[in-house]
Amino acid sequence: MTIDWTNVREDFPILKRKINDQSLIYFDNAATTQKPKQVIDAITNYYQNYNANVYRGVHTLSGEATQVYEDVREKVSKFIGAKQKEEIIFTRGTTSSLNYLAKSLASKIKAGDEILLTYMEHHSNIIPWQQLAKEKNANLVYVQLTNDGKIDIEDYRKKLNTRTKIVAFTHVSNILGTINPVQEMTKIANEKGAIVIVDGAQAVPHFEVNVQALDVDFYVFSGHKMLGPTGIGVLYGKMQWLEAIEPAEFGGEMIEFVQEYKSTWAAIPKKFEAGTPNISGAIGLGAAIDYLNTLGMKNIKAYEDSLFKYLYESLLDIDGLKIYGPDDLCERSGVISFNLDDIHPHDLSTALDLEGIAIRAGHHCGQLLMRQLNVVATSRISLYFYNTKKEINQTIQALRNAKEFFNG
Ligand code: PMP
Repeated sequence: MTIDWTNVREDFPILKRKINDQSLIYFDNAATTQKPKQVIDAITNYYQNYNANVYRGVHTLSGEATQVYEDVREKVSKFIGAKQKEEIIFTRGTTSSLNYLAKSLASKIKAGDEILLTYMEHHSNIIPWQQLAKEKNANLVYVQLTNDGKIDIEDYRKKLNTRTKIVAFTHVSNILGTINPVQEMTKIANEKGAIVIVDGAQAVPHFEVNVQALDVDFYVFSGHKMLGPTGIGVLYGKMQWLEAIEPAEFGGEMIEFVQEYKSTWAAIPKKFEAGTPNISGAIGLGAAIDYLNTLGMKNIKAYEDSLFKYLYESLLDIDGLKIYGPDDLCERSGVISFNLDDIHPHDLSTALDLEGIAIRAGHHCGQLLMRQLNVVATSRISLYFYNTKKEINQTIQALRNAKEFFNG
């Protein structure tokens, strides 16, 4: 299938917006992506035509809502190559999935155990483990990065030992864009008997992910970074692990029988979904997956790679612009962090905003990594398939203008 990538933009109403009298150029896709009308319509359709709670009634509307909600579970399961749809738990997002796991796995951690993280983790893959380590008197251990922003595999091997109970790392860095060798890292960790948890927030939206091929124990991601709405995310777990862990939230719909002083749990996955779930969010996520499947993840990856190469080479051409992360573009996804001369990223971002260009500036929820890079902040451009070379050209010109303005 040949895709007209410019035509795809017609599906995204927000891309018609003007910001400061200029056409919006949206380069903050790692923070959240824009939504196609197919997703917006699916959510509206639910509220207009079959709004009801799931599982709670035998009436028609509840049946329809439950059916669609469960169909989305199946869609997600196929999308990431899970073995069965029951391995898909709906959460509020990546952060909520990781917090859930940290609570659920608490019973498996004792004093002196180790939890292995890396220096490129998002805060949401650090703080839940810090809290767990504090509670259990366990130790956090960090794997070093190489100078070009990759996980130092030798250090990773060295730090894994029989005390390591959990290894949690990101599939793709939201700052460096580094794609980590998940399969290899999982194999090494599993050999030591550690549980492997992978943060796929920046991976699932951009290329094909197959959790069975990766062989990870848990894999988490957010709907809003892949065209879906906010407030919906996924916690995938291998069935054997979901059977071995306890629920961490309690209440309606996650029970089988309730007695005065004890209760039994519903079957997986409901055991892990207490209370009314984000039904409209799941429906929006389902529409997002349909949309991505129509384009094809292989096509999306190929197009994004070509855009990224163009962006990378154009940025390299700007004097005084320092790029962080791997030089080998095969080891990168569509995120690039940089600094331009001594211009503060917030000033740069404000200057670009005046020209309608949305980039991100700050520590990107990665303060540990900022310290490793010896900077307080970076500017970040993150692409999605609705971006164009023309937008890149305009942004490069805007960066050159800003350089001239600030360096006067
Ligand atoms: N991990 C990574 C790698 C991310 O990029 C993000 C979002 N910036 C998160 C976790 C947190 O995702 P959310 O805010 O959707 O929970």
